[in-house]
Amino acid sequence: MRAFTYERAADPVAAARAVAARPGAKFLAGGTNLLDLMKIEVETPVHLVDVQDIGLDTITATDGGGLRIGALVTNTALAADPRVRRDYGALTRAIVAGASGQLRNKATTAGNLLQRTRCPYFYDTNMPCNKRTPGAGCAALGGVSRGLAVIGSSDACIATHPSDMAVAMRLLDATVETVNAEGRTRAIPIADFHRLPGDTPHIETVLTPGELITAVTLPKPIGGVQGYEKVRDRASYAFALVSVATVIQPDGSGRVALGGVAHKPWRVAAADAALPQGAHAVAAQLFAGARPTRDNGFKLVLAERALAGVIAQTRTA
Ligand SMILES: Cc1cc2nc3c(=O)[nH]c(=O)nc-3n(C[C@H](O)[C@H](O)[C@H](O)COP(=O)(O)OP(=O)(O)OC[C@H]3O[C@@H](n4cnc5c(N)ncnc54)[C@H](O)[C@@H]3O)c2cc1C
Ligand code: SF4
Repeated sequence: MRAFTYERAADPVAAARAVAARPGAKFLAGGTNLLDLMKIEVETPVHLVDVQDIGLDTITATDGGGLRIGALVTNTALAADPRVRRDYGALTRAIVAGASGQLRNKATTAGNLLQRTRCPYFYDTNMPCNKRTPGAGCAALGGVSRGLAVIGSSDACIATHPSDMAVAMRLLDATVETVNAEGRTRAIPIADFHRLPGDTPHIETVLTPGELITAVTLPKPIGGVQGYEKVRDRASYAFALVSVATVIQPDGSGRVALGGVAHKPWRVAAADAALPQGAHAVAAQLFAGARPTRDNGFKLVLAERALAGVIAQTRTA
């Protein structure tokens, strides 16, 4: 691990100011992703600004009937919150499908949204990776790509976003709230928060340097039967090959978001509209323009079958 300096910020704007003031500085939340990457020198921050003392660790009701989830709320606390379990079941299910109990006790809401890809070549500093070193090339193209993206990818990067929680947040139309070093706040729809790789896969979100996530808000509950189906290589803990988050209403209408298939949680308005026609029609819309590799075309079939299973369960619920 490279040497770094460390401080604990006292409030959100001070934290944003401290990171903005030092190129190469990073926020430290639960540390469950950042520290792992620092140990193998994939991440080499020169300065860490620890945000554990800045508050932002509560879940409160919003005036609009939804919930504001502080950026430092742990995954365990969020999944267990009775309001989340009752009104946003897809979110609880997605979180508990991720990582392990110990990790979820440390992992935070903001850190989960910002965790880095699990592309194996990203973790191997002997291999070229445009996300780790812009312009280096991409070892996954022509390499082993079984777990990687089938849609929304580019000639520069075919990595997927690994977060389960983010897929449910996308399903539920969450909004990411931020503050910058000058104290200016922004509310960013989660649909616009993560970027597709294009020519700049190292720029993963629309956050500006030093911009701190303060909260994620959920709109008022939309009802329906909510689900999260995660297909992975082993049940104990593993990242998703494919995941399917759904809200299905009694009349068969609803919403679908996929994980494990793209550089961001994948949701398409035309796929939501196709839900009453069944899984095949939905998958056709979700995967219009898909570019699977020779290793991962199975994800298209897997996602459709997982969705068909969820729809069938909903009908018998
Ligand atoms: C063995 C293992 C298995 C896992 N399995 C899964 C899984 O199946 N599904 C899944 O979804 N996840 C999984 N994870 C990932 C885990 O969910 C993430 O590591 C965790 O959510 C990151 O949260 P954190 O608070 O620890 O973030 P940190 O590691 O502290 O930070 C992550 C990034 O977010 C930035 N950051 C943190 N807080 C803020 C903020 N408020 N504003 C701006 N930037 C911020 C940091 O600078 C850093 O770049 C797994 C992790 C491990 C180690
Ligand atoms: S797919 Fe993306 S993360 Fe993986 S090696 Fe290529 S550039 Fe790096």
